[in-house]
Amino acid sequence: VATFKNYLSGLRNIFTWSQHRQHGYAGGDDYKTKIGQAIKSPATCRATLMHDGLNGVRVTVPDGNSVVLRELKSVKGKFPRNVKQGEVIGYAGRERDGEAKATHIEGWLNGVRVAFSKLQAHYSTSARTKRIAAFLNARAKALHLPPTAAARTGRRGPYYWRLVQTWGRHHNLYPKPKFVINGIPGPQTRKVEAKLATLAK
Ligand SMILES: [Zn+2]
Repeated sequence: VATFKNYLSGLRNIFTWSQHRQHGYAGGDDYKTKIGQAIKSPATCRATLMHDGLNGVRVTVPDGNSVVLRELKSVKGKFPRNVKQGEVIGYAGRERDGEAKATHIEGWLNGVRVAFSKLQAHYSTSARTKRIAAFLNARAKALHLPPTAAARTGRRGPYYWRLVQTWGRHHNLYPKPKFVINGIPGPQTRKVEAKLATLAK
């Protein structure tokens, strides 16, 4: 599961998402930063430079969702590259006027710009479980299997895992031929669940 950490969250949000919208911007949150303050990657992911004149870095997790940090004074290291969560990718402040008003952060979820907090919520275990369970329930119906309550509760129980295993077996995702559907998740079943997470948007 991708995890996103907002290293700016302890700072003052001086231009909120709704203020961005009110002023005609597409959205984002600007946190008050000091010139030269280290800006860390919110996730373990691929980091690339933005080429839009706003001194931004985009960090993208394997399923394609991303975070953009803008208004950096400078970036650190070579791009594109793989970065670890917490790794310094740049420094706050604007080169243009030498003024460090704030650092802008925005999330991208399924191709849509969203608040960073919304992106984080998307990756919470409970929200992820609900999406996967809803995806599995839609298919269980066709197989005349009862639905898992995990779609409602966000909690993974033995029956949820049985549906994950059934789906994995149906799609030949288990290498061993002597496989049993037992509702107990092993490493392979966790891999099947990760695959499901990429499909259950
Ligand atoms: Zn902004």
